[in-house]
Amino acid sequence: CPVVLSGIQPSGRLTLGNYLGAIKNWVPLSDTHDCHYMLVDLHAITVRQDPKVLRDRCFEFISLYLACGLDPVKNVLFVQSHVPAHARLSWVLNCYTQMGELSRMTQFKDKSAKNVDNINAGLFDYPVLMAADILLYDATGVPVGDDQKQHLELTRDVAIRFNNAHGTKEKPIFVVPEPMIPPVGARIMGLQDPTAKMSKSGDAETDAIYLLDPPDTITRKLKRAVTDLGSEVRFDIKEKPGISNLMSILAATTGQSIDAIGAAYNGQGYGKLKGAVAEAVVECLKPVQERYQALRADEAGLMRVLRDGAARAQLKADATLKRVHEALGFIPE
Ligand code: ATP
Ligand code: MG
Repeated sequence: CPVVLSGIQPSGRLTLGNYLGAIKNWVPLSDTHDCHYMLVDLHAITVRQDPKVLRDRCFEFISLYLACGLDPVKNVLFVQSHVPAHARLSWVLNCYTQMGELSRMTQFKDKSAKNVDNINAGLFDYPVLMAADILLYDATGVPVGDDQKQHLELTRDVAIRFNNAHGTKEKPIFVVPEPMIPPVGARIMGLQDPTAKMSKSGDAETDAIYLLDPPDTITRKLKRAVTDLGSEVRFDIKEKPGISNLMSILAATTGQSIDAIGAAYNGQGYGKLKGAVAEAVVECLKPVQERYQALRADEAGLMRVLRDGAARAQLKADATLKRVHEALGFIPE
């Protein structure tokens, strides 16, 4: 059965981008794949986090994973820091990754430009930890948004390099994973700046829709979304980034095609499209929001899910780490 792994960093509140680009696509995979979904807290501390906020957010995240429909029996749901093999494999992979490769990563360039007073080694090394996350579980597929494509390429390169150095064609050490990027919703843009992706760690509250935003907030944010000159409803990312983004959101939340949306809303003005997007997003998030409160209130129940998930994850992760250490010539523990 093919193996899937993905994760999200608890570095801010979950956005509609995280939902449409990642979580929404995770849910149906559990019927056909062996799925592992994490909260990547080790990744989150590459940017300063307030400990109290971080702890609370991790519980919020796991509640939202469950509220979005991830079944904790059919999926392995866990926290990255609970499985020490992630940090251990990432050290090994550091020694198989070049500084030059990491300096080409656009996420590092973006994030270091935004955090000029804290360009730490972890921020630079982020993609190597991500490679360890994926390779530990022999993942064949990694369901992520478009922004993670470059990191996935690096994971593949490092896995192939390690296999060439220490494995054989018949017995490779790592499985080389493929990205699984959804055809629509893979890159939701900001509402205030539709030329930059929507992010949970962005500083403008009105740029993102958060999964727990009440319906009137969602509607207000969408009504005030920056649009483009003219009045034509047409998908053209270069000339009409704002309208194209609204069309993508409508397509991803309703299942309509971009062409059908263009045909239905062109000539009706931007207001009509914005109203339809607001209605679709509110509808799409309603069941998630309805389930959330009760799940979040049961911290003991959430801890049970996380402990069970960590134990199941650890079994696999430790087996991979053992294989890697053996291949390197380390004395067995
Ligand atoms: P941060 O700003 O802290 O990096 P983020 O919103 O980029 O937060 P990540 O934790 O980096 O979220 O990524 C989690 C998952 O969400 C990844 O699979 C990523 O590709 C996806 N994702 C993030 N932003 C978007 C977006 N705007 N559209 C579609 N998918 C997205
Ligand atoms: Mg990100």
